[in-house]
Amino acid sequence: MVSPQQLLKKHFGYETFRPQQEEIIEKILSNADALVLMPTGGGKSLCFQIPALILPGTAIVISPLISLMKDQVDALRSNGINAGFYNSSQSFEEQQYILDACHREEIKLLYISPEKLLSDVEVITKACKPSLFAIDEAHCVSSWGHDFRPEYTQMGFLRERFAQVPFVALTATADKVTRRDIIKQLKLKSPQVFLASFDRKNLSLDVRIGVKPKDKIVEMIDFVQERENQNGIIYCLSRKKCEETFEALKNAGVNAMFYHAGMSSEARSSVQERFINDDLRVICATVAFGMGIDKSNVRWVIHYNLPKNIEGYYQEIGRAGRDGLPSETILYYNYADLQILNKFASEGPMAEVNLEKLKRIQQYAEADSCRRKILLNYFSENPDKDCGNCDVCKNPRRHFDGTIMVQKALSAIVRMGEKDGANMVIDVLRGSKRQEIIAAGYDKIKTHGAGAEVPALDWQRYIMQMLNLGIVEMAYDENFALKITPFGKEVLYNKRKIDLTVLQLIKPAEQKPKTKKASTLSSDEELFNHLRRIRKDFAVEENVPAYVIFSDATLDEMAKQKPMTESDLLLVSGVGEHKLLKYGQAFLNTIIDFSPTNSNKNKGDTYLETLHLFQQNINIEEIAKQRNLAETTIYSHIAQLYLFGKIDSLTNFVNEDDIVQVKEAFNVVGESKALKPIYEQLKETVPYYKIRLALAVLKKREG
Ligand code: ADP
Ligand code: ZN
Repeated sequence: MVSPQQLLKKHFGYETFRPQQEEIIEKILSNADALVLMPTGGGKSLCFQIPALILPGTAIVISPLISLMKDQVDALRSNGINAGFYNSSQSFEEQQYILDACHREEIKLLYISPEKLLSDVEVITKACKPSLFAIDEAHCVSSWGHDFRPEYTQMGFLRERFAQVPFVALTATADKVTRRDIIKQLKLKSPQVFLASFDRKNLSLDVRIGVKPKDKIVEMIDFVQERENQNGIIYCLSRKKCEETFEALKNAGVNAMFYHAGMSSEARSSVQERFINDDLRVICATVAFGMGIDKSNVRWVIHYNLPKNIEGYYQEIGRAGRDGLPSETILYYNYADLQILNKFASEGPMAEVNLEKLKRIQQYAEADSCRRKILLNYFSENPDKDCGNCDVCKNPRRHFDGTIMVQKALSAIVRMGEKDGANMVIDVLRGSKRQEIIAAGYDKIKTHGAGAEVPALDWQRYIMQMLNLGIVEMAYDENFALKITPFGKEVLYNKRKIDLTVLQLIKPAEQKPKTKKASTLSSDEELFNHLRRIRKDFAVEENVPAYVIFSDATLDEMAKQKPMTESDLLLVSGVGEHKLLKYGQAFLNTIIDFSPTNSNKNKGDTYLETLHLFQQNINIEEIAKQRNLAETTIYSHIAQLYLFGKIDSLTNFVNEDDIVQVKEAFNVVGESKALKPIYEQLKETVPYYKIRLALAVLKKREG
């Protein structure tokens, strides 16, 4: 039997399993149930895909994300795995076709939406013999979760109906209530629970407090413009804000679009698709965006507003850096957001839970210790070291004795009768004489003007600290009036000292000289961009998202390692056998053509070495061996040498017939760096090396 390890390399091109993956696979192979809790991008899919390859029959994968199914299936196929999907987006014929394929045992994994599985369970299980059931996004079964889907709760019967088959439920939501709900509702048979670390070390965390809306936009535009080749998502609370942010970016010349639930579903899919295909750099979206997105090279995520809770926030920032490369996240946090969110949260039947969740994210945003520790604590992990990759770690906070300041604020609140919100309190502290203040008689109280030396914005941030320290509370049902807590009274009556955190300077949005990035690209980056272009050619040709061809992480490794031979290329993480066969040539050629060792003066040397051997009538295979290069490489040298006029004729390699054929194929498929389109146009009858050389001849004839 082929081992999971071998399949990992063969199909996915990876050398080693990530933590827990192997154990989960073993568990499923031993015919037992499992619940897998892993963060977004953690690598859940492999955990059922590899068992699906080993077990006889078809693995049934249940996923609510219809829009994702095609991409997931394309990705599997591009790895040489037979997969299909079955959902309501297909015609009857298409559905029939896939069921027939299942019947012929040609499908190892079948992706199905829950409603389709429920309605067609008989047909489906008649057509195929289930090898395992994988329930993806399993938190959808829990009404406690943030993404409840009623169809999920009806799936409990499956476990009894298919008693002999292992079930695995997978989710990125780790809280204990949801966990218990999943096991109960899906009736999992004493499942082993695999809780992977939720730490995503490659995501940097940055919270920016109190930046004015106007400055936020300027800051964001700078941020985006400094990252010319990167994709990112800006999450906004409202539809209107999405559109405004988009406008601002567009005016600054950024290739952006907006996305929210107010758009038609066609418009939304089109935006989504363009983003996945790297045709749009930036999406300004509400949280509606992302569920159906599996794009591994999102390089940054910005939250324009504070999110409602930590689960949502973590999932949203988790959409960055799924390929494991360093990625940035920024969260903007303003007092005004807090008020709006408090209002939302305090409405409806789940008010208590929602308010508690809001409080937790507020604590996170206000934290003056390592942010990642706080996040991980929330997911019941307790790392013992600070992360070094959050703004607090990079810029440790200092404290000062804030007792007097706090007392001033408290005294104002008491004297005003604990019935006003923070803005009014701040105005009184700063000695404002505006109409309302005079009318209420607040200009007569002793603390009027007692805090005039502190700017209003700073006061807001101190009051946020006071809220967090439990000195004051906000009465959401009384227009956000500030009230003193018993603990606050102890401070007011001098029984306690309070340390406040020195405020971080908010950088005013600065006018930076726009440096032209292109001129400072390192040669690795340049090669990386070339590789991306080749990838894009293939993606367009095959009508799949670019990451289905290779992930950014894989291209990045190629650009750094510069493999020159097929066996070296196979060592690159993400290059499996199937992709090597399909794309290896094109990528190797690009690397050979562009890598610095071959460029400029060195390039001449390597060509001359090949020429030297060639002139001694040594055959290509032998030259490749002697030079320790791929035959492909030698042929590309021969083509170049011919173009340079160092070799007179290629008639030993290609005859006129070949040349005519290649020319015709070339005219059909058009200009492309890849040879594959021509190869396929010629029904794979003319080998790659002949195509390459024929193209050289044609080029020379054109002059
Ligand atoms: P999830 O479903 O948990 O969000 P995925 O299964 O989509 O995550 O995996 C995220 C990325 O990690 C994918 O690009 C996947 O190919 C990659 N990946 C998964 N397992 C490994 C591994 N063992 N080594 C390297 N990359 C991996
Ligand atoms: Zn940290």
